[in-house]
Amino acid sequence: MPDTMTFQFLDVGMGDSTLVQIRRRDERFDRLVLVDCGERRTPLGVAPADALAYLTRAIGENSHARRRRRPYIDYLIITHPDGDHYNRVPDLLDATFPHYPTRRLRIGDLYYGGNAAEYGRLITRTLVGRVNALDGLDPMSQNYHSRVDGANRLIAWRTFGDVNLYVLSANWPSRGTRDRNVKSIVLMFELDGQKVILTGDATRATERHILRDVVGRDPSEVSCHALKLGHHGSNGSTSDAWVAATAPFAIFASGDQVWAHPYCRPICKFIDGDHLRRQFRTNSYYTCGDLGRYFNNRTRLAIGMNLFYEVARRRERLYDEDAQRNVWARRGTVYGVQWALSIVPRRRFELLRTDTCRPQDANVNRPFDCAAAVLGDGRRDELLALIDVLPAATDPAPA
Ligand SMILES: [Zn+2]
Repeated sequence: MPDTMTFQFLDVGMGDSTLVQIRRRDERFDRLVLVDCGERRTPLGVAPADALAYLTRAIGENSHARRRRRPYIDYLIITHPDGDHYNRVPDLLDATFPHYPTRRLRIGDLYYGGNAAEYGRLITRTLVGRVNALDGLDPMSQNYHSRVDGANRLIAWRTFGDVNLYVLSANWPSRGTRDRNVKSIVLMFELDGQKVILTGDATRATERHILRDVVGRDPSEVSCHALKLGHHGSNGSTSDAWVAATAPFAIFASGDQVWAHPYCRPICKFIDGDHLRRQFRTNSYYTCGDLGRYFNNRTRLAIGMNLFYEVARRRERLYDEDAQRNVWARRGTVYGVQWALSIVPRRRFELLRTDTCRPQDANVNRPFDCAAAVLGDGRRDELLALIDVLPAATDPAPA
């Protein structure tokens, strides 16, 4: 059995958290890299609770298999100092883990974007004493990125067996930059030439910096199997050049209806780019927003949005896969989903979702009609007349 890596794109609602599980051949446990753990508090509080339950179970079981004295993760990487990327870390530090009724979480290495002061007391008070590395409380270096060798190949920042981890951007243009998103730590994991990029809330400016200053001599270095869309799939990220250079087979984003994330437009760019793999034999679903409206979409492509389906009619029939029977759902019920992407050398990647309900008489757009609605102005009115669109919440726009 070769080395493998699995990405758990947790459903934390309007926030971000990805658990990377790296397993070396002949081992029965994983190295764990947790990238972000936060959520902007939303009315849909159930998603983060489920995600935290998953995390504590996964970390507890893994630490036990590893014969650790405490629940343990190898790396905690916080991409940048926005609450929706770190404010659930204290909950994880206080959590009770299976097999460890009295022991609290221990962290091998900690890296974070920005300055410690931007996190309130999290770094300087809460995380002190929980991190092994002596330099563990230092932030990621300013304007750091992996360098390329003479053949224009990126040089790994860390390696775990056959898995290479690269930093495409960190604290750019400077650690103290007031725009917190632009200085996000952007990570790229690689196993056997298959790459997965996690962007934090990186903006178009960060993308431009990576394409120009990091892989300028050979942009195919960021050509990847899977990409987490910058800033929850907002319109401020995902430039055309970034879509062309990354050309992923699968895309992910986590956000929710509070700010209509993810937006339709970035998703449509990847659909139109024609790189996404047809991954499902039967329909899968995802929800995206535009102009304060929400669309339910049906797809067979490898699109993994945590916002899976929103009930638009007064009552809708859904198939409960756990109970194996139909159930009725009321208008406004939102279904989130956790995606797992596994990379195994010399094999097509595996994509799984953990939703338990599937729409039966789904109120969805025809495939890619949201692309027409967003990109083709001529058809917009025609389309809006044909479909029921969902009003998004009216909270103020995110900072
Ligand atoms: Zn964010």
